[in-house]
Amino acid sequence: MRIVVCVKHVPDIQGERSFGADARVVRGEDDVLNELDENAVEAALVLAEEHGGEVVALTVGPDAAAGAVRKALQLGAGKAVHVSDARIVGADVIGTAVVLAAAIRKIGAAEPVDLVVTGMASLDGLTSMLPAALAACLDLPALTLAAEVSVTGTTVRVRRDVGEVGEVLEADLPALVSVTDQANEPRYPNFKGIMAAKKKPVEVLTLDDLGLDAGETGAAGARTRVVDAQIRPPRPQGQILIDSGDAGLALAAFIAERKFI
Ligand SMILES: Cc1cc2nc3c(=O)[nH]c(=O)nc-3n(C[C@H](O)[C@H](O)[C@H](O)COP(=O)(O)OP(=O)(O)OC[C@H]3O[C@@H](n4cnc5c(N)ncnc54)[C@H](O)[C@@H]3O)c2cc1C
Repeated sequence: MRIVVCVKHVPDIQGERSFGADARVVRGEDDVLNELDENAVEAALVLAEEHGGEVVALTVGPDAAAGAVRKALQLGAGKAVHVSDARIVGADVIGTAVVLAAAIRKIGAAEPVDLVVTGMASLDGLTSMLPAALAACLDLPALTLAAEVSVTGTTVRVRRDVGEVGEVLEADLPALVSVTDQANEPRYPNFKGIMAAKKKPVEVLTLDDLGLDAGETGAAGARTRVVDAQIRPPRPQGQILIDSGDAGLALAAFIAERKFI
């Protein structure tokens, strides 16, 4: 089974995040593999371990995004593809999907890709639209927000929890699946994996390698534009009530004032 797992390099949510003058997220060396993509890598590795085959990690991003595929290689992916081209800067979700789709077609030209796995959302863009957009570009069935994934023969089956309801969806391979953070417990890279990753191939591709022109992606091809972005103002200090016998009344008044009761 040949699986492509899409991983994104994003600013660390534990660290300081900032916007540039162009209202775009500032990306850099300190960025990390999108935490939710660890679930995607885990799902892909488990399926490859069960059915045999290969996991290819794929990212679209600046030079530093190599860190995302490197982590996937340390976790157990066999090889990686990094699409890096200055003309992609400013791509929106559709532009990103167009580039990922072209890269997946190129990966599949050598040997067909059976399954594309993504995370449920990136912790920077957070649109959760990429998986469906990518499936549409590749003309694949999209089984999104899977809390469980299995493959039997040429059929992929997922369970997704929608509110009170659990749905089971099936599709013939090839297909695209996005997995939630409930799908599994991602493994940690061990020393052997970290050392082995140093020898695994990372293919770096440009738009020219993919036969795309800048009008199809990047700022030139974007259908959406970030108009403004601002750092959220710090939360106002909470109010501390010191109980000198009347704290209950003060608490009730506080709640009533805000129309909770
Ligand atoms: C250098 C750079 C500059 C950008 N500039 C802009 C900009 O100015 N304006 C703008 O609107 N967008 C921009 N983007 C695109 C944007 O950051 C997202 O990649 C894109 O819109 C996808 O949406 P999302 O992040 O909300 O993904 P979601 O739909 O939330 O992500 C779901 C899943 O899709 C996969 N995925 C998402 N993005 C990637 C990726 N790049 N590579 C591999 N897998 C991925 C992951 O598995 C992820 O878990 C830029 C991206 C890059 C790399």
